[in-house]
Amino acid sequence: MVSKLLLIRYEEIGLKGRNRYKFENKLISNIKHGLAPLGRTKITTLRNRMLLDIGEIDPGEAVECLRRVFGIASFSPVTRVEADEKLIYETAKTTLMEALEREEITPGENGKEISYRVTVKRADKSFPISSMDLASRIGAYLMDNIPGLKVDLHNPRMVVSVDIRQGQAYVFSETIPGPGGLPVGVSGKGILFLSGGIDSPVAGWLAMKRGIEIEAVHFHSFPFTGEKSKEKVKDLCRVLTNYGGQVKLHMVHFTDIQKAIHQNCPPSFRITVMRRFMFRIGQRIAENSGALALVTGESVGQVSSQTLENMAAINKVTVMPVLRPLITYDKLEIIKMAQKIGTYDISIQPYEDCCTLFLPKGPITIKPNMGKILKTESLLDVDGLIEDALEKTETFNFTWEG
Ligand code: ATP
Ligand code: MG
Repeated sequence: MVSKLLLIRYEEIGLKGRNRYKFENKLISNIKHGLAPLGRTKITTLRNRMLLDIGEIDPGEAVECLRRVFGIASFSPVTRVEADEKLIYETAKTTLMEALEREEITPGENGKEISYRVTVKRADKSFPISSMDLASRIGAYLMDNIPGLKVDLHNPRMVVSVDIRQGQAYVFSETIPGPGGLPVGVSGKGILFLSGGIDSPVAGWLAMKRGIEIEAVHFHSFPFTGEKSKEKVKDLCRVLTNYGGQVKLHMVHFTDIQKAIHQNCPPSFRITVMRRFMFRIGQRIAENSGALALVTGESVGQVSSQTLENMAAINKVTVMPVLRPLITYDKLEIIKMAQKIGTYDISIQPYEDCCTLFLPKGPITIKPNMGKILKTESLLDVDGLIEDALEKTETFNFTWEG
């Protein structure tokens, strides 16, 4: 029988006082939200753990979902029994037999013994036997009742664990890693500049990993950039919802701003001026939605527009913290992460980005001259252009689809 109960562990760092409740409540709602499309669930909190009852949900599908819920350090399918010595022995035996069967291992086959170990955690000190004592008693019971086993405390093939809490024993043989991090939402909201390229979705995912809820902004130059490139960005948002419940997307009509820059700005620093517009608009959207930071997919030196000098020139238009989670990553490292989280295949679909479209063929200034930038911007109706772009902005909501 496959267990319907899962014991969920989370890290305790930083979980003091009121933060602890905030963290736990967010984690509970994110788990429930993630599993909701699959069926009904019930979660109870134990000390430093949660117990999830997945009801009718397919355990394999539940596991796949939980692997993506930030804040979960690890989890185990468990059998729960009353904390009674005999019951624990029996349950440990069935748990080990099921694990052997699942892994198609027959102890003693061809004269080969299978190594095992028993670990016991006793959070409930009212249980009369010490952890060490109980572990060796269970170990002996298993040895007596399943032929072909041998004890190995250091590098065992099989591990049977017993966790005793609040009068109950939780018995398990599997520990599945979660993604770690903090539950999405505990750290507030950030505005993610989502381009459709490889980097920015990964930057968003990393921000989510630290508990930041993402609201995405995409700048498009319709009709110069097509409907397809908009769809692509929506698809990326859908993937991100798998990790964070919901993602709002603002599609900003950037065409007129691009044209104004093209007409008034010397080619070599067009991109810097353009990014300054993006940041100003991002800040406006953040103010409306209560976001506390801007998030980009920049990595220092990856392209000539991503120098520290350019970043400084861009940052000057905003007072908000600008998070660049990828700042120190190499392209190959970013690609690997994109593949792992499922955005890579979408990102590499061919598309026209608003940036590439209006950019000069020649080199981009890596050390922008602030005086020249400000002079160019004074030729533009910056506020009017921004108001206009915001007015034409469309907003979409994506929620976790399981
Ligand atoms: P990406 O792979 O994320 O597109 P990139 O390596 O192509 O990044 P740039 O084109 O220089 O780098 O863009 C740097 C960052 O600016 C992007 O990571 C993204 O956060 C933001 N950005 C660029 N273009 C757009 C856009 N059209 N809409 C929203 N954000 C954008
Ligand atoms: Mg790009």
